[in-house]
Amino acid sequence: MIPLVPASLLVSPLIWRNVCPLATLDLWSNGRLARTQQSRRFAAWSGALGMVLLVALVPARRFLFNTNGPALAATIVIVALLALALGAAFDMKAGFCNALCPILSVERLYGQSPLLHVSNARCASCSLCSHACIDLAPEKAIAQHIGPSRRTISWLGSPFGVFAGAFPGFVFGYFTIEDVSLAAADAVYFHVLGWAALGYLLTLAIVSLLRLSYDRALMALAALAAGLYYWFGAPGIAEGLGLAAGGNALRFPALTLVLVWWWRAERRAFRRRVRT
Ligand code: SF4
Repeated sequence: MIPLVPASLLVSPLIWRNVCPLATLDLWSNGRLARTQQSRRFAAWSGALGMVLLVALVPARRFLFNTNGPALAATIVIVALLALALGAAFDMKAGFCNALCPILSVERLYGQSPLLHVSNARCASCSLCSHACIDLAPEKAIAQHIGPSRRTISWLGSPFGVFAGAFPGFVFGYFTIEDVSLAAADAVYFHVLGWAALGYLLTLAIVSLLRLSYDRALMALAALAAGLYYWFGAPGIAEGLGLAAGGNALRFPALTLVLVWWWRAERRAFRRRVRT
């Protein structure tokens, strides 16, 4: 079911965040040792570390996790223990889900303009444990996370700006290389990170030339990354789900969802601009 998660994030990031097993572990041990809340500094560096984890772990599927079950299982156990330990030391989701989780940046990017309102089933009442919490306000989470730099092109130099600008290229890089042996790990990182770097430079050029605001640029980047993911990934997902009609049976509905999401997000952003 994991390949369907990106589409669910476009509908609402709360769908996944309400059922994510790592969030369950984080909240299961919630505050057993301490109830530390996030400082702004902790939120910034832990978020950046989460992005580094994502960039390290996803390409590793190509030379390790896609073919080596024990290695994948061991990694899942380590991440699960991390969620438990950080959950015990911090209040609510402040230690893992809203900090170190490798998927958090993707949740922020795809969840910036949800199609549906979904309630937060995890927090009975809000203790304001975290900065820029997606569960509280998905539409505002990126602006709160980036801060005032969003008003100029300097937002593209923030850790989240670099991640978002490079993400479509990262997705393209992942899908344009085959599974290889462990010995070819460096070639995989060179390929995927090379495309990510090229994607970032293209983003930088286009945003500068067209003078795109941060919100319009992020909507386009999210739509492009999700579109690339389903264009390339749909055949494998359809096979995994046993859909007899093949890749196109999933590719076109997924791309339609992405386009509808982008159109709705642009329309909302336009209304916001008119109001202000
Ligand atoms: S909704 Fe409130 S308590 Fe729950 S994770 Fe977000 S900031 Fe923390």
